[in-house]
Amino acid sequence: MNTTPVPLDDVDAMLQRLHMPTIRRLYADLAIRAEEEGMSYRTFLGLLCAEEIAHRAQTRLTRYVRKARFPFLRTIEEFDFTFQTSVRLQVLGTLLGPELVSEGRCAIFTGPPGRGKTHMAVAIAYRAIQNGFDARFTTADELIGALSSAAAEGRLDKALVPYVHPHVLVIDELGYQSYAAGAANVLYRVVNDRYLKHRPMIVTTNKPLAALGQVLHDADLAEAILDRLLERGTHFVLRGRSYRTRHQKQEQIPDPDAA
Ligand code: ADP
Ligand code: MG
Repeated sequence: MNTTPVPLDDVDAMLQRLHMPTIRRLYADLAIRAEEEGMSYRTFLGLLCAEEIAHRAQTRLTRYVRKARFPFLRTIEEFDFTFQTSVRLQVLGTLLGPELVSEGRCAIFTGPPGRGKTHMAVAIAYRAIQNGFDARFTTADELIGALSSAAAEGRLDKALVPYVHPHVLVIDELGYQSYAAGAANVLYRVVNDRYLKHRPMIVTTNKPLAALGQVLHDADLAEAILDRLLERGTHFVLRGRSYRTRHQKQEQIPDPDAA
């Protein structure tokens, strides 16, 4: 190795070429500190590499969260399991680790509004992103709308890609809208394509699973969809009070089960 002194501009250019923006930004100042503190060469290099790695992880996280299109960002750490006692953190186990993707786990969260279904789905997908995977959040309405019009125009295969390709797919609010005929077909395509590839799906719905046939106007397809989701999946029923109205007195809250 040639050990003649390297000009500052050359170091800069080489770091740029190697795509090391963080090291490039920090090394000059750290070199001054290293001399003042008598830092070893190894520590100097180690600190710079650690900063580059940490910065890359952070930008990746930001980029993947944006790509996932979450309606809000909530984590599992922010979920109050003492308020929502129908689900326990231990039971979520495999949904929060890399097994979610490696074993192709699925989950269905049912329950009335405000019980934390969307929070839970977002938190699981966010954890998958932290574990190195990519995720996509969509509402059932958006997915069915996009795929139904694509199917009508004969470009369903291409339109399926953003829903089938990501490691983790969240389908939120299944059953909130009443769907047009054909909705069950496109939903089945997504679920079956992902099922065959062992790719996880997290589905939330305010309807009991038995009502899904009615919601989708096709009992057989609804059953086929649920079958695939539950083969490697868990059904969670979120009960209790709504987190949104938790500060109101009990008697002011309309009972969702009363109707
Ligand atoms: P759902 O999808 O069941 O209607 P959300 O998940 O949207 O309900 O929850 C409504 C709001 O309440 C969100 O801001 C969510 O973060 C919060 N929330 C719900 N349940 C909990 C909980 N157990 N702990 C902390 N926040 C919660
Ligand atoms: Mg919701």
